[in-house]
Amino acid sequence: MDRRSNAGVFMEWGTKLEDCLFCRITRGEVGADIVEEKPHAIAFRDINPQAPVHVLVVPREHIPSVSDLGPEHCDVLADVFALIGDIAVSEGIAQRGYRVVLNIGEEAGQAVDHLHFHMLGGRFFSWPPG
Ligand code: AMP
Ligand code: ZN
Repeated sequence: MDRRSNAGVFMEWGTKLEDCLFCRITRGEVGADIVEEKPHAIAFRDINPQAPVHVLVVPREHIPSVSDLGPEHCDVLADVFALIGDIAVSEGIAQRGYRVVLNIGEEAGQAVDHLHFHMLGGRFFSWPPG
């Protein structure tokens, strides 16, 4: 079953797709501090920022993770990276440098099962990450 386009069905872990937090934000049902939008993706500030700039860039479509991406998502990923480029400039971090983080699965600390890219900037970051 295609979980991406079945808003009424249950996802495998028992949460209704219509209850997905980031789907609800993209539909405007949950408030968020929106930074910029494109047809296939939306960017809003993280509610628990880990850096002076902490923006989440999120596809509008419910794509759970990287393994659910396919060639049909070219337009989605183009909008995601166009937003990242635009926002780096508008937030003043394009020249200074910033980090884009994609947490995948439990060991990486993924908490929301809807693909999202963290943009972090405005301070120095260590490597390797903690
Ligand atoms: P991850 O751990 O990679 O799944 O990241 C999920 C992120 O979503 C965390 O950084 C949270 O602080 C953030 N988050 C959770 N709820 C909200 C919300 N309502 N608005 C904005 N960011 C949120
Ligand atoms: Zn979702």
